[in-house]
Amino acid sequence: MAKFDFWEGAETRAIQPYQANKVYLCPGCNRDIPKGLGHIVAVPPDAVDLRRHWHRGCWNNRKNRPPKG
Ligand SMILES: [Zn+2]
Repeated sequence: MAKFDFWEGAETRAIQPYQANKVYLCPGCNRDIPKGLGHIVAVPPDAVDLRRHWHRGCWNNRKNRPPKG
């Protein structure tokens, strides 16, 4: 199966610590992003429903460690 970068061209938005009032699951490492931690929201251009919250480092390194699934 051909693999393409689903996240190529995604719009990103920085979430400030005070805006992080929920726990999110980061698709980069499959670990939680705790409340109060600044992070990144990415919105794939072809699937705005599938926006995900990422650790900043995971987002920046996603090409080295692609998300599972
Ligand atoms: Zn992560």
